[in-house]
Amino acid sequence: MIIVLVRVRYDKRMNTEKKRFRIGFWLLLVVLIGVGAYITWSLQQKQVEYDQKAATLETQSKIKPPTLKLDGSDKPVYLITPDLLAQGNNWGLVSRDHPLQPNFTPRDLVSTSVAHGDKGTDMQVQRHIESPLRALFAAGESEGVELMLSSAYRSIADQQNLYDEYVAEQGVAAAKTYVATPGSSEHHTGLAVDFATASDECQADSDDCSLSQADAAWLLENGPKFGFILRYPQGKKDITGVGFEPWHYRYVGVALAREMAKTDLTLDQAIEQLTADLKQR
Ligand SMILES: [Zn+2]
Repeated sequence: MIIVLVRVRYDKRMNTEKKRFRIGFWLLLVVLIGVGAYITWSLQQKQVEYDQKAATLETQSKIKPPTLKLDGSDKPVYLITPDLLAQGNNWGLVSRDHPLQPNFTPRDLVSTSVAHGDKGTDMQVQRHIESPLRALFAAGESEGVELMLSSAYRSIADQQNLYDEYVAEQGVAAAKTYVATPGSSEHHTGLAVDFATASDECQADSDDCSLSQADAAWLLENGPKFGFILRYPQGKKDITGVGFEPWHYRYVGVALAREMAKTDLTLDQAIEQLTADLKQR
């Protein structure tokens, strides 16, 4: 009799524990779904915010803001202010044909907190790209992609040194292909970064950094979600003036980056469309 009673109590306890486990499991699942939904929502919210801002401006202003309808893309990108196209701003074009003023210095540089090469030295970016950069690194980490920066802001004087070094080692032709002439590098703006696959070698010395093919593919797909575009794609040297650089990304903001990702256009072409639209007014 006693044995039977103990057994019943034991079974009851087991049942309650099972129930508790089930409740716990479902609660955890609900929380996880909630967190996932929140992240998706907040990313979408940024785009919505941008669109709303553009829409408000459109109704307030008598002059309709120019829009960029990229080939192959179904959604126009609004130019909130022509200021976006100014040197050192999100859509400001910097290339050999569009060099920066010799006295150009970007505003508001901050030391980035993401992993980077040249341990012990600071790497700087414009303040407003620090948070998208951190978000990109976090997204990579969550998918097993560990990144580092091998380069970020570079002054015009630093670029001169880099260019001279390259010429000495590889010759003028190679330097012209792979190193921007001082004043024509996007790195002067604090809006361009070079990505690398995380490694101890890279952390110690940024000259020893390299980007794996898998990480390059991940960046190509995911960079635009955070506003970063591949600036020098393969087979576009005639347009960009620079050979394929799978590691070099330029921040242009989420709206333009997402639309550009649906097309085959380089930043040079996208900006050309935008300015053509402006000139027509
Ligand atoms: Zn670069």
